[in-house]
Amino acid sequence: MRTGIIWFRNALRLNDNRMLIECLNSTNSEAILPLYILDKSELKLKNNDNRIKFLYESLIDLDVHFKAKFGSNLIILNGRCEEIFGKLLGNDLLDVSEIFTDYSNKPDDVENENSLKRILTKNASVNLHLISKVNSLINIEEVVNQENFKAPKTMKDMEKLFSNLFPKDESGFYSVDEPLDIPESSKSVPDNYSEIVKEYLFDIEKELSLFKRDSKSYFKGGESEALVRLERKVSSEEEYIRNFRKPRTISTNNLENPLEPETTGLSPYLSFGCLSTRLLWKETEKCYRNGDHAQPPESMHGQLMFREMFYILSRSVENWDSDTNNSMCKKIEWGAYDSNKMELWEKGETGFPYIDAMMRQLDATGWMHHLGRHAVSCFLTRGQLWQHWELGRDVFDKKLVDADWALNNGNWLWLAGVAPFSMPYFRLYSPCPDGKSSLNVEAKNAEFIRYWVPELKHFPSKYIFEPHLAPLPIQESANCVIGKDYPEPMVDRKVVAKENLAKFKESLAKLK
Ligand SMILES: Cc1cc2nc3c(=O)[nH]c(=O)nc-3n(C[C@H](O)[C@H](O)[C@H](O)COP(=O)(O)OP(=O)(O)OC[C@H]3O[C@@H](n4cnc5c(N)ncnc54)[C@H](O)[C@@H]3O)c2cc1C
Repeated sequence: MRTGIIWFRNALRLNDNRMLIECLNSTNSEAILPLYILDKSELKLKNNDNRIKFLYESLIDLDVHFKAKFGSNLIILNGRCEEIFGKLLGNDLLDVSEIFTDYSNKPDDVENENSLKRILTKNASVNLHLISKVNSLINIEEVVNQENFKAPKTMKDMEKLFSNLFPKDESGFYSVDEPLDIPESSKSVPDNYSEIVKEYLFDIEKELSLFKRDSKSYFKGGESEALVRLERKVSSEEEYIRNFRKPRTISTNNLENPLEPETTGLSPYLSFGCLSTRLLWKETEKCYRNGDHAQPPESMHGQLMFREMFYILSRSVENWDSDTNNSMCKKIEWGAYDSNKMELWEKGETGFPYIDAMMRQLDATGWMHHLGRHAVSCFLTRGQLWQHWELGRDVFDKKLVDADWALNNGNWLWLAGVAPFSMPYFRLYSPCPDGKSSLNVEAKNAEFIRYWVPELKHFPSKYIFEPHLAPLPIQESANCVIGKDYPEPMVDRKVVAKENLAKFKESLAKLK
C-alpha cells in the first residue's frame, strides 16, 4: 500500500490545516503516517522548560484528537530528521509515495527540509509537498517572487499588499480565505511502521511527567486550549475586540490575575500552530461586522498584518537575523558583550522594578506583554545598557513560549532603533514608568510589581517604581532596604541614556 507521510511541524492542529486535508485527499497514497519529529537534546539546548512543556502538551492534545477523529495515533519520534527519513524511505515495506508538510522558512526547518531533499534525490518516486498558507494568511513564496515585489516596511505597504491579494468586499473587509473544516475522510496507518522506527519512538507522557509540578508556566499547550481561549478572549468579547487598540492595552496584566494578559494571550498557540491565524482573523472579522471598530495598525487585524509583514520580510531580507549585510538593519557600534549586565537583565535584578518584574515573568511563565517587551528591549539596547540587540533576541528566543524566528527578529530590529520600520531611536521608554506612561502600567496599587518582585511587597506605591528614592525610614518600614534586600539601580538611568543617544548618533553618522 502506498503511504503518504503527514509531517507535522508548525501546525499542531486539526482545524484549518490544508496539509492534513491534501494528504487525506491525495490519490497517490492509500495509507497515511502522521509524524512529528523532535530532537530532545537539541530542544533542551535551544528552549527553556516552559516552551518544551507547551510543545509536549500540544503534541499530546493533537494525538488524542487525531486518534478520536482518524483512528490512529500521532507518531512522535525522537532523533535527527535525516536519519529517521533515511530509515522510513529506505524501507520497501512502507512504500512511501509522498510527504506533506507545512511551508516554513525558519532556518532549522529549512535545514531539515534540505536534508530530506538530499535523501529524496535517491528516491525519485517520492514527492515532497510544501503546503503554503498553513501558518500565514498569505502565500509567502508567491508574494516574494512577484515581479514587482517590494519589501513592505509600513502598515500602509501591508494594506496595499492585502488590497491586491484579498480585494475588499462591499462592506470593506479583505476577502481572506475561509478557514477549512477538519476533513471527514480517513486512511489507515500501516501496522509495520513501529518495527522500522522502534528505536526512535518517544514516550511523551513520561517525558511530560518529568516537568516540575510547581512550575509557574501559565499557558497550557494544545489546540483544545487554543480554541477555549479564542472563544473566551475573542469570539465572546465582541466589544473588546472592536475597541481593541494595542498601544492602549495595559502591560501589567489583569488586575485580578497578574498572570492573565490584557491582550488575547493567543501568541503561544499561533507560534506552535495550535491555532490558525486565519481562524483568529475571521473570528475578529465577525465582531467587526457588528459595528464600528478600530483600524490597523492598532487593531487586532493590524496585529495580524504585522505578523504577515514579518513573515514576508524574514523570507525576502537576506541575513534577517543578523546585523551584517541585512538591508533592514543599521549596523550600530554596540558595546562589547558584558556578562554582568546581561545576567542582571536576564535574572530581573537590575534594580528597576518594572524591568525586573517583566523579566521575572518571562523567566517563570515564558510570556510578557508587548509593551513590557518594548521596555526591556529598549533598556537593554539604546536606552540604558548599550548591549547588542542580538543578545536580547537570543534570550527571548530561548524563553518565550511564543518565540517565533520571524517575529522575534523583526521586533528586536524595531525596538533597537535600527530598522526602517523602527520608532525614532531617540524616543526612549523610562524604565520607571508612572500612571501616565505610554507603557500603560497599573500604578495605583502596583500589584504586578508586588507579585513579581515580592521584595517590594510592602513598599508604598508612590516609590515602588523607583524604590531607591524612598527615604530610609520608609524602606525600613516596608521591610526592604535598597542595596540590601533589593538591588540599587544598576545604572544611573538618565546619565547612561544621554550617553547612549550620543553614541547612537555618532554611530549613525559613520554609516553615511
Ligand atoms: C522585542 C520583542 C520581541 C517579540 N518577539 C515575539 C515572538 O518571538 N513571537 C511573537 O509571537 N511575538 C513577538 N513579539 C510581538 C508581540 O509582543 C507578541 O506577539 C504579543 O505580545 C503576544 O501577545 P498576544 O497574543 O496577547 O497579542 P495580541 O495583541 O492579542 O495580538 C494577537 C496576535 O497578533 C500577532 N502580533 C501582535 N503583535 C505583533 C507584533 N508586534 N509583531 C508581529 N506579530 C504581532 C501575534 O501573533 C499575536 O498573538 C515581540 C515583541 C517585541 C517588542
